[in-house]
Amino acid sequence: MSALTKLFGRARKILFPPACLACGRNLFAFDDKHPFLCSPCEGEIQILPTLFDGISKKRLPDNRRFEYPKDSYLLGAAASYSQSIVKDLIWKMKYRRQKATAQTLAMVLAKYLRSLDLDLSDFFLVPLPIYYKRKRARGFNQAELITRHLSHILQMPMIIGALKRVKGAESQTQRKNIFDRKRYLRNAFMVSAPAYIRGKRIILLDDVFTTGSTMNEAVKTIREAGASEVMGLVVAKA
Ligand SMILES: [Zn+2]
Repeated sequence: MSALTKLFGRARKILFPPACLACGRNLFAFDDKHPFLCSPCEGEIQILPTLFDGISKKRLPDNRRFEYPKDSYLLGAAASYSQSIVKDLIWKMKYRRQKATAQTLAMVLAKYLRSLDLDLSDFFLVPLPIYYKRKRARGFNQAELITRHLSHILQMPMIIGALKRVKGAESQTQRKNIFDRKRYLRNAFMVSAPAYIRGKRIILLDDVFTTGSTMNEAVKTIREAGASEVMGLVVAKA
């Protein structure tokens, strides 16, 4: 970076100081390593200390062993969705289309994964796809954005586009009944390029895990496509 570019960068920061994505405070006031959150806000995000069982949603007692629950799958959840700052950041990304938030959420995920100290060396990140109509309306798939940032931060490979969502979720919010939801989501995903999935260790990534119906269905689809191991990973769990 040339001295002139640096100078312009500084001047721009003084004239248009970047704001914290969560509280809106001027970031210039903080000596911050985090590009989008002020240190008080970053400190407010409580990272969860364990992995979970995807089906029962219970915390797993010992992460270090990295044991796969029988008839279920490992679920990583970086934070609780009940934390208002986490909820707010996810909301801003999805509904206010603040794409920079995806990078912040990827940093939260990276912090979580590092704290668990898991060996993720032959895993591939796969974002949960959204239905094309929704993607068209929103302009992006939030899970894919987070995946791209996380892949960059942790230097992990990713597979984009091999898993497709073939059924929409328009009426999902009205489906309060979990069995109804489950039935509706059956075959909602399809692996269009099985060669990319077969024999691989896959981490399916999404922003939020609420009932788990979506993640469960995606895990099932990826398993049927011949992945050797499948794990779910979300920023926040309800
Ligand atoms: Zn803040």
